[in-house]
Amino acid sequence: MMYDVIVVGGGCAGGSAAVFLAKAGLKTLVLDNDKGQTRRAWIDNHYGLADGVAGPDLVEAGKRQAERLGAEWHIAQVTAVAPLPDGFAVKTEDGQEFQGKQVLLATGAAMSLAEALNLEFTDGREARYPRVVKVDIDGRTSIPGVWAAGILAGVSAHTIITAGHGAHVAVGLISELEGKRHVQHDVLGK
Ligand SMILES: Cc1cc2nc3c(=O)[nH]c(=O)nc-3n(C[C@H](O)[C@H](O)[C@H](O)COP(=O)(O)OP(=O)(O)OC[C@H]3O[C@@H](n4cnc5c(N)ncnc54)[C@H](O)[C@@H]3O)c2cc1C
Repeated sequence: MMYDVIVVGGGCAGGSAAVFLAKAGLKTLVLDNDKGQTRRAWIDNHYGLADGVAGPDLVEAGKRQAERLGAEWHIAQVTAVAPLPDGFAVKTEDGQEFQGKQVLLATGAAMSLAEALNLEFTDGREARYPRVVKVDIDGRTSIPGVWAAGILAGVSAHTIITAGHGAHVAVGLISELEGKRHVQHDVLGK
């Protein structure tokens, strides 16, 4: 099975990206080890969540939303991402290998996969993340077919921003595949 996109990391950035990718009809797989930092957060500043939200509930809701829209979600520790002639092989600690035409890395503060891929890095803007993956305006990295979103790509470490960036990068990826700017709007009452 060749997925259209494999998303590594199911926190705010990866989960939000998977929502857009799956809703656009792309065969999307999320691999996440369930150890994200958001699971330790109480979040009062996420726009639209009037009463605040516990981090684990936000991440869980994102997972359910992505799955409802057609994404596959596996709890797994990704150990390697390797180029193939027609995409990438993504290997997990339990010995599985998944294949995808494109890979979207959203591993938060965990930079080791990106380093192992020799992606280009740049200076981060937050003291906690001094080096981040260099991306273009749409989230493309220095390797064609590998995209990066969220903290890993140097955006501000806040749920609304990393979730927004995950969606933004997904729109960039979908737009590249569709050859025109992708818009994903639904109308109330339909
Ligand atoms: C204690 C605390 C309080 C916070 N409070 C707030 C707040 O009040 N408001 C706010 O806006 N933000 C808050 N944040 C920040 C917020 O949680 C993060 O900035 C943001 O959500 C990061 O999103 P992300 O998707 O980039 O990374 P993450 O949410 O960390 O997601 C990355 C995911 O990738 C997974 N992963 C990494 N490597 C691998 C691998 N090799 N294989 C498989 N999976 C992998 C991780 O386990 C994780 O699930 C807080 C953070 C902490 C730690």
